[in-house]
Amino acid sequence: MSLREQLCEYGRRAIEQGLVIGTSGNLSVRMGNLVAVTPSGIALDRLTPETCPLVDLTGRVVEGELRPSSETPMHLAIYESTDAQAIVHTHSVFGTVVATTMTELPPVHYNALLLGGVVKVAGYATYGTPELAANVRAALEGKRAALMANHGGVTIGATLEEAFEATRLLEWLCEVYVRGLSVGRPAVLTEEQLAAVVERALNPPPL
Ligand code: 13P
Ligand code: ZN
Repeated sequence: MSLREQLCEYGRRAIEQGLVIGTSGNLSVRMGNLVAVTPSGIALDRLTPETCPLVDLTGRVVEGELRPSSETPMHLAIYESTDAQAIVHTHSVFGTVVATTMTELPPVHYNALLLGGVVKVAGYATYGTPELAANVRAALEGKRAALMANHGGVTIGATLEEAFEATRLLEWLCEVYVRGLSVGRPAVLTEEQLAAVVERALNPPPL
């Protein structure tokens, strides 16, 4: 599957899995000094490879008829500051609930380590602005995921599949935390408990 075909495939999956409603979210994948990104304002299950613009690292469109996603500045800022090769941004429900009510998602499950531990909520700024791009870039430092205040979530990966799985995991972690809060007070894992998980993962018992 070409990288632009992957954008269409994961766009469809994002909608099928309820992570995205209509046009609320965007995806991109890096191809060297170019980035293929979803077009602005088109439902993510309606994409075809030709509708996905190619932009250079300054945001100039080098191929495609449609306007690239309004969040292209955020995608480019993330490519500039991380090793990401793919990015997924959604307004998934539980991620957005956390992003509208908290300043971070505490690690209540050890799988949070796959995203870098605590997930920070980037300060609010209008969608599509350089301010939002800068806030997200700061919140993502050393992490695979960030939330965006009163907006949604964003994840990165070495492939679109990885970035998409990180989005699913982020949503699951947010759901566990939000549902946990409705039942009681979710216990947050300590530094020691998280360090023990890393240690266990690095040193599994022999077969
Ligand atoms: P686009 O349709 O321009 O990608 O915008 C959707 C979005 O999620 C803005 O934050
Ligand atoms: Zn958005």
